[in-house]
Amino acid sequence: MACAHTVADSIFRLSPVQFPHEDDVCFIAMCYPFTYSDLSNLLLKVENLAQKRRILTRSELCKTEGGVSCEILTICNPRPPSQVERRPVFFISGRVHPGESNASFIVKGILQFLVSDDDIARELRDHFVFEVIPMLNPDGVIHGHYRVSLVFSFVAFYCSITFLAGSLSPPHACAQTEETM
Ligand SMILES: [Zn+2]
Repeated sequence: MACAHTVADSIFRLSPVQFPHEDDVCFIAMCYPFTYSDLSNLLLKVENLAQKRRILTRSELCKTEGGVSCEILTICNPRPPSQVERRPVFFISGRVHPGESNASFIVKGILQFLVSDDDIARELRDHFVFEVIPMLNPDGVIHGHYRVSLVFSFVAFYCSITFLAGSLSPPHACAQTEETM
């Protein structure tokens, strides 16, 4: 349900919300939702787009406290492997604050562009390695939290994830792609 709003004198006013059906359960979202299921669908589409060129590797970074998968994607041109090891790495993550669903739409655009046939995307894949954690806090997203995960405080969760991410070897992730070709 989309609601009309006005902004006047720096005051945001939501027009009265109509609930036309009795016994409905309604939720009002601050941002346009982007769920864990939306992410799963997106990753399948991105994987299909990238499949022919073998430029994408999906890996499970960890299982969360809630038992779901937190994925990390590696995007690069895997050839030649010796050159991949010398490339600078971009590290991108979204939804550490699960309420900020707008971040997911940014990550969606980044992923779709990076795996595309665009000349600039190809250049980027040739010269850099992109490590993307599209949803850093899936437990928080699934449970509708705004800042925290399931049991950890936000800070502890973030530190543990960044530690894990720091221990990954991006060129190795690309090399795996090369090996499976
Ligand atoms: Zn934030």
